[in-house]
Amino acid sequence: MNQITYDLLTKICDKCGGRCCYFAKPPLTEERISILLKNGATFDDILFHSYRKLDCKSTGFCIGYDNGRCRFQAVKPETCVAGPFTFDIRNDMLEVYIKQERICDLVTFLKENPDVYREQYELALQNIGHLVRSLPKEELAEVLKVEEDSTDKVAEVPLREVFSPDSGN
Ligand code: SF4
Repeated sequence: MNQITYDLLTKICDKCGGRCCYFAKPPLTEERISILLKNGATFDDILFHSYRKLDCKSTGFCIGYDNGRCRFQAVKPETCVAGPFTFDIRNDMLEVYIKQERICDLVTFLKENPDVYREQYELALQNIGHLVRSLPKEELAEVLKVEEDSTDKVAEVPLREVFSPDSGN
């Protein structure tokens, strides 16, 4: 993604007030925890029950949300990078969803700009795939119990493709 587009997307996110960071609790792989700890997070920022995740402040916003920005922007968790795409797994298929426009202004922009949509979709798929492959099975099962409202399904990918050796990171 070129810098101009990236800046534009950042501007749209800045204006939103962090709706996707409110009670987000993004799941964390072992690797992501280690990266976050090297980038300013502490063990107190992480919840270790059910599945490992970033905690929320008393306001409900993610512990990483600070002054309208993510303080972990360069190293944020996979589900945060994937947004506004999200996922579920059913019947051996990875289902990819997108948030509805009424809850995410970024979606309107992506739908009006197919090239950027495709680019963000590919990035999302890459990050979701990495997360799905990296999380312990029991934790992934807990993550999948979290319901995501106001989303629409946009794609299905066979799980065997997600786990194939050629699927990248
Ligand atoms: S890590 Fe950053 S982008 Fe993800 S929910 Fe927390 S503040 Fe938002």
